[in-house]
Amino acid sequence: MAGWHELPKAELHLHLEGSVTQETMRLLAPDLSEDEIRARYSFGNFAGFLECFGWVVKRIRTPEDYALITRQLLADLERQNVRYAEITLSAGVVLWKKQEFGPIYDAVQRAARSSPVEVQWNVDAIRHFGVEHVMQVAELAAERVGDGVVSFGIGGDEARGPAEWFTDVYRFAHEKGLRLTAHAGEAAGPESVWRALELGAERIGHGIRSVEDSALLKHLRDRDIPLEISITSNVATGVVASLAEHPVRRIYDAGVPIVLNTDDPGIFGTTLEREYEIAATAFGFSDAELQQIAGNGFRYAFRIDRGRGDLRNVH
Ligand SMILES: [Zn+2]
Repeated sequence: MAGWHELPKAELHLHLEGSVTQETMRLLAPDLSEDEIRARYSFGNFAGFLECFGWVVKRIRTPEDYALITRQLLADLERQNVRYAEITLSAGVVLWKKQEFGPIYDAVQRAARSSPVEVQWNVDAIRHFGVEHVMQVAELAAERVGDGVVSFGIGGDEARGPAEWFTDVYRFAHEKGLRLTAHAGEAAGPESVWRALELGAERIGHGIRSVEDSALLKHLRDRDIPLEISITSNVATGVVASLAEHPVRRIYDAGVPIVLNTDDPGIFGTTLEREYEIAATAFGFSDAELQQIAGNGFRYAFRIDRGRGDLRNVH
């Protein structure tokens, strides 16, 4: 396939705050020079990424700023023929900045409604801030079920915020009608994925270290639980040593369902089309395989109920 534009695509693992490109940052903070922004966006490991992410989120100050970055992101998705996006809004970060979540959510929802890209929101908490924080975020998400919020998840440091802390929170979120996801098996090993599954996570963010545990790969395959894979992200944060060592091909060949995503496209300087291109050129995915993977983006969307597949037929 000459390009990946024609293929209707979906994004299921995409952080709004991490979508802020250097160009968008110039709109948010016109006082900053291009050189300063470029320097802030340069990093070589996970700690550097977190520092950059923290620097970016502090410059998203008002509901209008959140609306601006949503419009910029959606225009970019539309250009790439992305038809459906589940965008992660970090309510955890909003609380950390001591901002009010309601006006920010209303602003991003308004911006999303004016785009042809269908958007659902995944509201996400910072696991290493502890149970109380994570529950507060789950409550904010639960209040907006039926008003654009489709799921709840946790991100942050897997080691300092182990999944087993959040059993009650996940039960609460499930009872409120939220679908469940969790970052796991990105920096921490396969046991972190097992713990996320015990919480009831229906999709796993990253999950690439599942490759170290053949019983886990079999479980994911047999239970039809997809991994939200973001190749460029894993290389940029150093959770894989090099592009060649990324396990995406091994995971796919083990029969585990995967979806390709960008994670934080503005910070990592990537696009969804680029991720498809990398899958083709660096990992030998065929056109037919990539078409099937693109279909997974719709098949495993949370918007639809467990009878997966309806959404795919719409497009
Ligand atoms: Zn993520």
